[in-house]
Amino acid sequence: METGYRKIKLYFMIGLPGEGDDDVLGIADTCRSLQERCRDLGRLELNLTISNFTPKPHTPFQWHSVSTAEFQRRQELLRRALRQLRGIKVNFTDVRLSAVEDFVGRSDRRLAPVLEAAWRAGAGLDAWFESAERTYAAWTGAIEAAGLGGRYRQLEMGGWGSAEALSAGDLAAFCRQPLPWDHIDSGVDKLWLAEDLQRALAATVVEDCSFAGCSSCGVCGPELGHNVVIPAPPPPPPIPPRSPASERVSRLRFGFAKTGSLALISHLDTVRLLERALRRSGLPVSFTGGFHPLPRLQLALSLPLGVVGLGEWFDLEFTAPLERLDLEAVRRQLQAQLPAEFPLLSVASVPVFGPSLSQELQKAHWHFDLQPLPLDSPPTTVDRAPALDWDGALADLLAAETLIWSDTDKKGRPRQRDCRPYLLRLGRLRPAGDLDPDGSLEQPIRLALEATIDLQGRSLRPEQLQHWLAERLAVPLRLGRVERRSLELRPC
Ligand code: SF4
Repeated sequence: METGYRKIKLYFMIGLPGEGDDDVLGIADTCRSLQERCRDLGRLELNLTISNFTPKPHTPFQWHSVSTAEFQRRQELLRRALRQLRGIKVNFTDVRLSAVEDFVGRSDRRLAPVLEAAWRAGAGLDAWFESAERTYAAWTGAIEAAGLGGRYRQLEMGGWGSAEALSAGDLAAFCRQPLPWDHIDSGVDKLWLAEDLQRALAATVVEDCSFAGCSSCGVCGPELGHNVVIPAPPPPPPIPPRSPASERVSRLRFGFAKTGSLALISHLDTVRLLERALRRSGLPVSFTGGFHPLPRLQLALSLPLGVVGLGEWFDLEFTAPLERLDLEAVRRQLQAQLPAEFPLLSVASVPVFGPSLSQELQKAHWHFDLQPLPLDSPPTTVDRAPALDWDGALADLLAAETLIWSDTDKKGRPRQRDCRPYLLRLGRLRPAGDLDPDGSLEQPIRLALEATIDLQGRSLRPEQLQHWLAERLAVPLRLGRVERRSLELRPC
């Protein structure tokens, strides 16, 4: 809380053998106690995940079976206790999925057709399924189809409650029953697992044999060798946190391109890609100070996702006078850490305390394709679609006194602004003769746009031209290949 953390995540598990209602309610007590301890610093918010214990073969709880009815009762018990606390979000694992997990985890060879049928019904990576209903339907359908529905439904009550109440002798006999995975030798004796189960139910602590005595689980022997008990190493001395160097001694401006598949990574991922490359390059990059230091890196005007950039810029500050070095060698050193589709085209030294890169941007040059889409109701009186008057639409756009763009601000409030001042040039790259003689609606057109960039980084984007031209041509247009050819900087 003192360092700004207001919310923490906590993970708990319920349904372990030997667990009582007090243990379940203890989760709510732990949360209450945590919040009370932090009360003088503000309200601590908690995100809880409550998962259900599902036993696994070759472990002391392999004889246990989940009980969905019992899970539901314990979840409800905890839900009621947590309702009395504020600032708590809780996520309970679906008990039906825990039952499926138990069924799959401790089944026998009859499981094979179930696995295949469930996979064919779309199951797989179920923890990440968007819909628990879909997962559940896939598995239960497969279980029923294999004729194992009755066995699956036994999990509603589970088989543990009665076994937990057995005497030590009866429990030992219960544990001698054959299990489907007995023929697999994991190295641990089944008898030791049964004894360990009794120790667990009696809450007896078994020492970790890496550091203390051997409890003869059966793993060590002539085949595997023997465990060597070693004293725990002392904890390493704490390393005091060291802030990265933040002196601002020199600034270099790199020209670069973002091509090929890299056009499909976002602006944020481009920044991350550069940060990692810088770390690997070993260049003396200058970092911002504060709690979360970042390299002093500035990219000019973010490139929209999917757009190729052929003349982009970024500025990078260093803690050493790199401008006195061979700048081409610096460029090669950084290029060696970047993908081929991210070529560094140029490097130059700029004054470290001069205007920022964004203040020096002047114009953006774009090339983009627009393709007319078929109308919902194609013309019926003529066989052919009418020729589109691209030249007229472009001339009309350039002659417009205002070009109003409507969108919403960051808070979702509608806003309008006139973008006409940004439009410098707009023209067709292909001559008119390239179009089909009949002005076919399928024919794409390639346009060149030149737009100013103001000091706030506002400019024009191809999708705005797409919108205004579609209005003038009265047909929907699809935006095709888009390239930002260059970002022009103000002359020095
Ligand atoms: S030392 Fe070997 S046999 Fe003994 S408890 Fe550890 S793993 Fe098992």
